[in-house]
Amino acid sequence: MKGFASRSLPPLHPGGEEIREMPAEALKCKECSTTYPLEARYVCERCFGPLEVAYRRPTHPPSDPAELKRRIQAGPGTLWRYADFLPVERVPRASLPTGLTPLVRADRLAERLGIGELWIKNETANPTHSFKDRVVSIALARAVELGFDTVACASTGNLAGAVAAHAAYAGLPAYVFIPADLEPEKILSTGAYGAQIVAVEGNYDAVNRLCTEVSGEREGWAFVNVNVRPYYAEGSKTLAFETAEQLGWEIPDRVVAPIASGSLFTKVARGFQEFIDAGLVGGGVPAMHGAQAEGCSPVAQAYAAGTDVCRPVKPDTIAKSLAIGNPADGPYAVELARRTGGSVDAVSDDEIRAGIRLLAETTGIFTETAGGVTTAVLAKLAERGEIDRGERVVAYITGDGLKTLDCVRGTFAVAEIEPRFEAFEDALGARV
Ligand SMILES: [Zn+2]
Repeated sequence: MKGFASRSLPPLHPGGEEIREMPAEALKCKECSTTYPLEARYVCERCFGPLEVAYRRPTHPPSDPAELKRRIQAGPGTLWRYADFLPVERVPRASLPTGLTPLVRADRLAERLGIGELWIKNETANPTHSFKDRVVSIALARAVELGFDTVACASTGNLAGAVAAHAAYAGLPAYVFIPADLEPEKILSTGAYGAQIVAVEGNYDAVNRLCTEVSGEREGWAFVNVNVRPYYAEGSKTLAFETAEQLGWEIPDRVVAPIASGSLFTKVARGFQEFIDAGLVGGGVPAMHGAQAEGCSPVAQAYAAGTDVCRPVKPDTIAKSLAIGNPADGPYAVELARRTGGSVDAVSDDEIRAGIRLLAETTGIFTETAGGVTTAVLAKLAERGEIDRGERVVAYITGDGLKTLDCVRGTFAVAEIEPRFEAFEDALGARV
């Protein structure tokens, strides 16, 4: 097997394990830059800052961009094609195929909003119909490498389903902790995979606190977004990698993405930056626009107040998957939006419902409430005149509308008739 390591173009396919040099070299504190070994740890012992993965440079990725591009293009049709940018020792043998979701040109929505060029990254096409399959893929692969035998998570809904499904594929027991008032669609689809669901009486922030405590007590348990969070977070970079590759190795001018913890938002920018640094694409990081629901908008509030300090809030919104009142990466999200000439906006529950409808009727993509938030913020930016006609915009639609069906109940008419032509004509004849 050693021979693989010295080959210039080692195969990267999900069925086989490629022995290679780990692209990551350390965990590094985002605040004080103290480094730690690549273990299951997430907080700096010196300053309590969050840890993130640091990579070898310049040998990883290969310094020749053309060779790197060939490696990616010859890779599997999943997010593992970007393994040179991911913190795992090997592409896992058992990984539920994830990523390479469609980037959909949205001309009708662009026209409606007065935008020149608009693309929708459709994350509903992942195995459990949300972007969370990406972060779980990476977290699970690394957890197995670190010797964990059980996976768990604190979830606002989508993560629960992703952990349950990926654990099922890998043959690992799973425990998912959720707020007890979660949408039934998300609870039912998670339970179907055989995971142990723990419904906690409290909001996500309470669930998260409990999971932090449990993770300290349960050896052998990898909480994907707690003790292996630095690896987990890296999965969101693949959204940017795919976008650039699908745009023909180019970077969009503007990006609109939802903000819950702020992890996806900041890692998408990081992904674009890594492709720029590797020489795979030209230009700079896009203007990053964050989207929150008014009922849980600590990041948008900090942005509007001109500060980085995100004051914790008590969530009250239909966008439950974004209902994190105390967002771990909030300050970094605010800083990123400012630095790139973006913004962070919040929209009301009614605007979210309108956003779901607008996206569905112009693109054929039915999104959950989080995607309604993103679409509504996109519409707001267009209305404010923040998007130039000549710009290329990408909006990230992170989850499927089938997960939050209650939000569209009663928003359209159904003609109920007897099975007779006259009845049809009486009901709709005037209209057709
Ligand atoms: Zn530190």
